[in-house]
Amino acid sequence: MVSVVVPIYNEEELVSKFHEAVANALNQTGEDWEVVYVNDGSRDASLGLLRELQTFDPGVVVVDLSRNWGHMGALSAGLQTARGDAVILMDGDFQDPPEVLPELIQAWRNGAQVVTAVRRSREESRKVLAKLFPLFYRVLGAMSDYPIPLNAGIFGLMDRQAVDAVNNLREGNRYLPGLRAWVGYKTDVVYYDRQDRAGGDGKLSFMSRIKYAMDAITSFSYKPLRLCFALSMASLILVPVLSIIAVFVGGPVVTAALALGAAIFLVGGLMLMCLGILGEYLGRIYDEVRERPLSIIQQVYRAAEIAETLPEERQKIFRVA
Ligand code: UDP
Ligand code: MG
Repeated sequence: MVSVVVPIYNEEELVSKFHEAVANALNQTGEDWEVVYVNDGSRDASLGLLRELQTFDPGVVVVDLSRNWGHMGALSAGLQTARGDAVILMDGDFQDPPEVLPELIQAWRNGAQVVTAVRRSREESRKVLAKLFPLFYRVLGAMSDYPIPLNAGIFGLMDRQAVDAVNNLREGNRYLPGLRAWVGYKTDVVYYDRQDRAGGDGKLSFMSRIKYAMDAITSFSYKPLRLCFALSMASLILVPVLSIIAVFVGGPVVTAALALGAAIFLVGGLMLMCLGILGEYLGRIYDEVRERPLSIIQQVYRAAEIAETLPEERQKIFRVA
């Protein structure tokens, strides 16, 4: 069986249309499938619509989280719940196009254990933030201590072995595209054209994106800490240089005062920067030692369990399933 995990946060405009597209794509593959929708504390009609889908489609699993935990929290709840031999992660806004699902599954059937969907292009280039993504992936690539595929988000497939490996990790600040590469196994890549969001607005706030980018960099690299060391070396070299200039080049008092001020700002700034970088790591160490869960599931609804409550004609679909 193939599981598709989809995080849903206030997507009432899209869920019905989205499920139809996903079900169509999955039916083409001839595989058994389930779609695990993780309701991440939506405040709109999303949960009701998802429960409604279950009354028509036994392949729908709904995981209801106790509050809004964010993209990664929702995805890891989905990964824990999914029972498939392969698990696909995708967003519920059509940006990861359902038409690509058969290709991911084909790559898995051809022997890959981890399949990464890589963006060939971005349709949504209007947005300023979207323009920053390739830059972000570049920086991450340069920083990382081992290769992470460029231009890949969460969209992709992992087989049961890889899913269990990721589920067993204890770390809290998860950057799933990185972890998926980190667990290893036989890997393949599928290219696709990133679509524009089909409706509604983006749900991730600017600050949560910054956090995500920081998680990505700090959880896969010690280079920022090394940068800190390099900066401190550079500032130490400045000390004798400035002293020599002060001795040999006499000048007005004002210039000397300004130079002194500049030096203080320089050193102070560098120290603050180093402290900031250390803080990023310390904060995460604090998170890790607490070992808090990434999200808390309120309830899991499986379609088969509600079969008896349905009208006779709809019960039939469950007997087949
Ligand atoms: N999402 C979520 N919890 C959140 C924010 C977003 O589950 O707190 C879901 C959202 O419903 C969507 C996916 O995560 O299915 C990606 O969110 P979005 O499209 O807003 O992110 P973007 O594509 O803009 O990076
Ligand atoms: Mg999106």
